[in-house]
Amino acid sequence: MSSTIIAGKTVPIEAVALLEPERSAMRDHFCRHDVTPAHLAIVEAYARLDEKIQDSINRSGLLPACRAGCAWCCHGVKINVSAPEALVIAERLKSAKNELVPAVQAAAERRRHMNTDQYFVSGEPCPFLGASNECTIYDVRPMACRRHCCLDASECERAVKNPKLKLPVSQHAPANAVGAISGFALAAALEDTNLDFRTFELASAVSVALRDDAAKRWAAGDRIFDLAIRPVDAEDRRIAEADLERYSPNSGSPKPVWKSHGKKKRLVRRP
Ligand code: SF4
Ligand code: SF4
Repeated sequence: MSSTIIAGKTVPIEAVALLEPERSAMRDHFCRHDVTPAHLAIVEAYARLDEKIQDSINRSGLLPACRAGCAWCCHGVKINVSAPEALVIAERLKSAKNELVPAVQAAAERRRHMNTDQYFVSGEPCPFLGASNECTIYDVRPMACRRHCCLDASECERAVKNPKLKLPVSQHAPANAVGAISGFALAAALEDTNLDFRTFELASAVSVALRDDAAKRWAAGDRIFDLAIRPVDAEDRRIAEADLERYSPNSGSPKPVWKSHGKKKRLVRRP
C-alpha cells in the first residue's frame, strides 16, 4: 500500500483525498493564529467526527460494545492528544475551577517517570475518570478517545487485567478508520499553519495547557508543549524530534506561505 508523510505521520494515499475537507475546515480557523478560532476548530471537528463515527457504525451494521460506565479502556492506556485539544480541556477545567486540576498535575508528574510500558502495566486510571466510571470531560474528550470503539468489552477487561500479555482487542474498524482520518487532518492543518502538530501524553499535555501563558504562546507558534515530553519515554522523544525543523519559527527553515493559484488561494512551500 503506498503512503505519504503528513505532519510526520505515515498516511495511506487513499486517505489523503478523504482528509482534505477536514484539513481545510480546521486550517481556516488555525490560520488566524489566535486562541478562540483554534478552540472553535477543535469543537467543530469533534462534532463532525462524532457524526461520522455514528454514520460508520450505522452503515457497517456492527454494534460496538461501548456504553456508559464501561471504562476498561481508560486504564493504563497512553492517550495521545494534540496541543489544541489539550488547550480545550484545560480551558474547561479552568472555567469550572475544577477540582481535577491538582489530580491532573500529579498524574503528569508521576508519568514523567514512567515510559509507556510501565504506564500500561500500572493500570492507572485516567485522571479524568469519575467515581462512577464516567468520563468527566466527555464532551471535550480527545479524538483518540472518541475513535476508540471495541466489539467485546470482555476483551478490554482481559487486556487491562493482564497487561504483560499485551492482549489484542477487537476494534470497530470502520469507526477507528474515520477517527484516524480526522487525526491526520488535524495534524496536517496544524502543520499547514506552522503550528505545533505533535501529540503528547494526555495528562502531561493538559498540565502544560493549564499554564496561564500556554494558549497564547502555542497560537504564536511557540514550542511550549516541549514541557509535556516525558524524558524517560522513547516514543515521546521520537515524536519530539520528528520534523520539528519544518515549523519551528526560529529554525530559519522555509515557512509555508499563502499564494494565489488562479481563483483559489493555496498553501504552498517556498522552494
Ligand atoms: S473500548 Fe472496551 S472498555 Fe472501552 S467502552 Fe468500549 S467496550 Fe468498554
Ligand atoms: S479522557 Fe475520558 S474517555 Fe479518555 S481515557 Fe480519560 S476518562 Fe477515558
